[in-house]
Amino acid sequence: MSGPEREVASAGSPPAVIHVPHASTIIPTEVRHQFVLSDAELSAEGRLMTDHLTDELFAMPSKMATTIRFPVSRLVVDPERFESDSRERMTAHGMGGVYERTAGQRPLRRALSAEERGQLIERWYRPHHAALPAAVSTALTTRGVCLVIDAHSFPSVVLPYEEDQRSDRPDICIGTALVHPFVLQTRRSSCGHRPRAGAESKSGVV
Ligand SMILES: [Zn+2]
Repeated sequence: MSGPEREVASAGSPPAVIHVPHASTIIPTEVRHQFVLSDAELSAEGRLMTDHLTDELFAMPSKMATTIRFPVSRLVVDPERFESDSRERMTAHGMGGVYERTAGQRPLRRALSAEERGQLIERWYRPHHAALPAAVSTALTTRGVCLVIDAHSFPSVVLPYEEDQRSDRPDICIGTALVHPFVLQTRRSSCGHRPRAGAESKSGVV
């Protein structure tokens, strides 16, 4: 296994990048010992937290888009969190870049050393965050514009770790980013003018 999985569009292809951060269920054997859950519990946690089928739902031919898929489970390290816990508000829920708690807010991992955390960041997080802007830059260079689609899914029932605990969840959430007014406007149209808490930052809480 090596770095982010990437399908590179040709120079003449449409300028789109599909980002699939949470579809993988893979927990490499070399990090399994960090988790305090049994195999059955860890499997159940993966089922809860994985954005199932987003790699298939958002699959695009390489002629149409460059797809960047995070190659391991978000339980290993979450590429949708800020690298620094001090910037990441989900750290308060034990779910910064390197999760310490489960979706139910139970212990997920033993305490890691700074070296162990750094190894996860170096091995999985940084290569992914190098590949993503590189793909966008390629599109911008070749086509002048780039459509970036961040592909998530979320369960129909709210999980304990989520900041928005309301039960009336939208079927489809286009997303919101305060720095991208068009996206925010579109999302409001589709989700009844209720921004989904946590969906507007890099730390997509989904
Ligand atoms: Zn997600």
